[in-house]
Amino acid sequence: MRDPVSFHLVRGLPSIREGDDLASMIRERLPIRDGDVVCIASTVLSKAEGRSRILEDYAPSAMAASIAEGIGKDPRFVEAVLEESREVLIDSPFLLVATNFGHVGVNAGIDRSNVGEGKILLLPEDPMASADRIRTGLDRDAAVIVTDTCGRAFRCGVTGVAIGWSGIGALRDWRGERDLEGRVLEITLEAIVDEIAGMANFLMGEGGDGTPVVVVRGLEYPRSGGRIFRPRELDVIRDRLQEE
Ligand code: GDP
Ligand code: MN
Ligand code: MN
Repeated sequence: MRDPVSFHLVRGLPSIREGDDLASMIRERLPIRDGDVVCIASTVLSKAEGRSRILEDYAPSAMAASIAEGIGKDPRFVEAVLEESREVLIDSPFLLVATNFGHVGVNAGIDRSNVGEGKILLLPEDPMASADRIRTGLDRDAAVIVTDTCGRAFRCGVTGVAIGWSGIGALRDWRGERDLEGRVLEITLEAIVDEIAGMANFLMGEGGDGTPVVVVRGLEYPRSGGRIFRPRELDVIRDRLQEE
């Protein structure tokens, strides 16, 4: 890595509304340089993209009603989750789904915090496209990572993960490189967009800080390649879940 590596919170962003030009709002507050990695909380992309919904507008299907009863949730909320999902992995005691764009998360990543009473906020419809659009708007050879705070299987505590990115490869490929003893590495693919998203998310905070954008400066990273969402046919854990 180059030295130093630095993290910069973008201060002074207002409450984001539908139609806001986030790329310009970021550039006005922190001039972006070539090589920067600009991490943006999915929440504000969703707001800018008009992904806010009124809970009352959802008409629950029979399936939504039945799942909702099992877990004591609002059937309209469960309906919203199902509409954003391509597959239900677990429906009790919480709802774990694969979203329409492939991310696995509880409640399809639908947020009720930082959005207003009676409202919900869906994840961006296509976070990879969102990242592309912001990157174009930044008008620099910079990378963009769309983050969301997520729970994890097997481990306590939420962390930031990447749900979309542009101008950066998702994975760093160590295969063929050597370790300290000179042995050739055979299988290490490192999910660098998640690693960067984790630290950025930590700096953003989860509450009322109002800091949804973190710029990371001084990283060396591949410009393309790799994927994060494991192809369905290679996903052993999902198979096991469905054997139940
Ligand atoms: P998520 O991780 O993408 O679900 O987003 P969070 O709800 O955890 O928010 C991440 C950060 O963005 C926190 O610092 C929030 O205070 C901030 N945030 C959320 N919405 C807005 C907004 O509309 N404007 C500003 N300035 N900050 C926001
Ligand atoms: Mn979220
Ligand atoms: Mn968060």
